[in-house]
Amino acid sequence: MARDPSTRARAGLLHTAHGVIETPAFMPVGTAGSVKGMTQEDLERLGVQILLANTYHLYLRPGHDIVRAAGGLHRFMAWPHPILTDSGGFQVMSLKGLGRVTEDGVEFRSHLDGSSHFLSPERAVEIQLALGADIIMALDECVAYPSSYEATRRAMQLTGRWARRAKDYYERAGIRGSGFGFRGEASCDRLTLEVGPAFSESRTPNPEPRIPALFGIVQGGIDRALRRENAEQILGIGFEGYALGGLSVGEPKGETYDVTEYTAELLPWDRPRYLMGVGTPSDLVECVARGIDLFDCVLPTRNARNACVFTSEGRLAIKSARYARDQAPLDPACRCPVCGRYSRAYIRHLFQAGEMLAAILATQHNLHFYLDTMGEIRQAVISGDFVSLLCRVRTGSSKVSHT
Ligand SMILES: [Zn+2]
Repeated sequence: MARDPSTRARAGLLHTAHGVIETPAFMPVGTAGSVKGMTQEDLERLGVQILLANTYHLYLRPGHDIVRAAGGLHRFMAWPHPILTDSGGFQVMSLKGLGRVTEDGVEFRSHLDGSSHFLSPERAVEIQLALGADIIMALDECVAYPSSYEATRRAMQLTGRWARRAKDYYERAGIRGSGFGFRGEASCDRLTLEVGPAFSESRTPNPEPRIPALFGIVQGGIDRALRRENAEQILGIGFEGYALGGLSVGEPKGETYDVTEYTAELLPWDRPRYLMGVGTPSDLVECVARGIDLFDCVLPTRNARNACVFTSEGRLAIKSARYARDQAPLDPACRCPVCGRYSRAYIRHLFQAGEMLAAILATQHNLHFYLDTMGEIRQAVISGDFVSLLCRVRTGSSKVSHT
């Protein structure tokens, strides 16, 4: 692992059954087994190394049994590279009025047909094992911002108890030989941040293709003491990686960064750290500086569909009339295939005309911008230039400064 000497930034390699992920890494969100508007070939061409898929959506449609019968999510969606699935809890809780949290789990109604469902920590692991991702997540309770101290504390403690149940179920599933090739206690070799790029060359990839790594999630809102208490609980249970949940849910940006730094510090240096649902390109730089390895966010894809593109000159609302005759690419500094071929005027026209190609081109460009930013961050950490990159971001002279 390469580490920046004056920040907490690090660059490593995560080995999974379906390939190696260079970290820090950004995971595009493939909600229902598809990154909207992108073919899997497009994603490969963009250099995507890992996708996130949503358990909630795949459970409701087409159903995890159908995905399992198809040979698992990799085969079902023809994506032979790493996949992470979330636990489903965040979607259930963000569908306001449709979910109810109890000690045992979450009762919720399908947003598709109103049918009743129940998601427990055990059930969330069971569904994710059926989907067959490389990294799966324990069920947690994420509270909105602002929430009272009591509500935050209650959700944090419940997250701790659910993490224990998720881990117990995961281990029991292995002992039973549940058909997933699972074999009990997690081994440190299956998913690890390697020590040094040269060392990693000699490592063989995970030889057991069907064993997912279970990550635990640390909650606690913006309260440091609650974060610490939850981190101690989750670390005591022991997971192959650790996620920071409940951030970027409306709190001030400074709090996001401070709590990320505080919480990341509590986690073991040799396990991957995943900051869920964050963020903008400049957030990626700031949070890598605070020790984060993995990110996911809907911003590049959702914004693209809403005609908002990330560029080295800031965000462009490409539908604006000012671009009607603008023959420049979306971003003159971008080397993506879209910027190599199409003009702002044409892409604006596509949005105005409601052409589906509009969202496709904007999504390709935005994902390229994110992946290119992450590649630049990684190279800077490896070559020892990360601090100068961070300074450029903060002083406004980086391409991501205004994003
Ligand atoms: Zn571009």
